[in-house]
Amino acid sequence: MNEVKRILRTSNDTELRRKAWVASKQVGEVVVDDLLELVRLRNELACSLGFPDYHTLKLYVQEFKPEELDRLFDRLDEVTREPFARIKAEIDSILAARFGVEEEELRPYHYSDPFFQEAPNIYTISLDRYYKDANVAELVSDFYKSMGIDVQPIIERSDLYEREGKYPHAYCTNIDRKGDIRVMVNLKPTEQWVETMLHELGHAIYEVYIDPTLPFFLRDPAHSFTTEAVAMFFGRLSKNPEWMREMLNLSEQETEKIRSVVEKTLTMEQLIFARWAQVMYRFEKALYKDPDADLNELWWDLVEKYQKVRRIDGRDKPDWATKIHICSYPVYYHNYMLGELLASQFLFTIMEEEGVDKIKDLRFAGNIKMGKYFVNRVFRPGKKYRWDRFVEYATGESLNPEYFVKQFCR
Ligand SMILES: [Zn+2]
Repeated sequence: MNEVKRILRTSNDTELRRKAWVASKQVGEVVVDDLLELVRLRNELACSLGFPDYHTLKLYVQEFKPEELDRLFDRLDEVTREPFARIKAEIDSILAARFGVEEEELRPYHYSDPFFQEAPNIYTISLDRYYKDANVAELVSDFYKSMGIDVQPIIERSDLYEREGKYPHAYCTNIDRKGDIRVMVNLKPTEQWVETMLHELGHAIYEVYIDPTLPFFLRDPAHSFTTEAVAMFFGRLSKNPEWMREMLNLSEQETEKIRSVVEKTLTMEQLIFARWAQVMYRFEKALYKDPDADLNELWWDLVEKYQKVRRIDGRDKPDWATKIHICSYPVYYHNYMLGELLASQFLFTIMEEEGVDKIKDLRFAGNIKMGKYFVNRVFRPGKKYRWDRFVEYATGESLNPEYFVKQFCR
């Protein structure tokens, strides 16, 4: 997969790209029969418990009402459609020029990852050069410390750097719910690893500050999407011009130079992800509703509708079965989207409480008040409240997609 991703990110050889993309989908045919059997078994068990299908059961145990999530995804579809179409047109014109084809000839293998879930690298400024001399662990630790949050003990227990045979991804884990919290990362001085380190330590500090007097089962974040929201809130900072200025000592001029690029990149990432999340949510819902439908066709119908990526003519393969979440982490994807919504809601709550109107006027580094906000209103309650009450407790209102809209859908 790393080789496939490298080719899709860097190669200008269309034939090689096509081969790499097709190779990434080969696993679909290998797993599809087992996966469909699994889907039917999941449905059978859900039905035996009185649910219409497994999708509904999974939402129920995550304390979501299906109609509530449908409404939310409909609203997000409506508000992201236009801004996404504009950004997608810009991406397509750049890619068409790069590969010497007409825009109508662009196919999935022209985009820079196998599912078009990430923003392609199309702007000339790479943020990596601002981080190339940074000690990532120190930089991120200094930032959290400046908000009054000490992450040094977490860092000391953690596995930070690459070595032969090591797990290449990243996660945060709470070993004992008694304070032994660690992150697994493979730090390098790049923007992506700064984002990941901010993200994983976001999960970590949430766990650190949960009220230790709560019973064991409540000593956990309020919901999967609330801990994602915290991690995403901090992860976004690696592309925040003010944060970069404060943490990297950039000059005013340098900050202005990167402002439009980083803001555009972050917006592009959010919109691309929001459209991709639509495909995942709607596909899985349909998959469990009718596993006998023409799923290969349905997948590309949804991709064309929501992501505006054209299918490869005549291809009839289970490309949907290559997305690992559909196989191993079923009916979970919406939590990432809800995390992004809540991350924006946290941001506007903090701005409101500090009397700040514009995002660019909010301070992050050195903002002790912001640190206290997260510790007291977000982390401390753990799982004491149901997620919807928790969101009200932390932000003063129920989960509201309009803050994400305000931030990214203009
Ligand atoms: Zn995460």
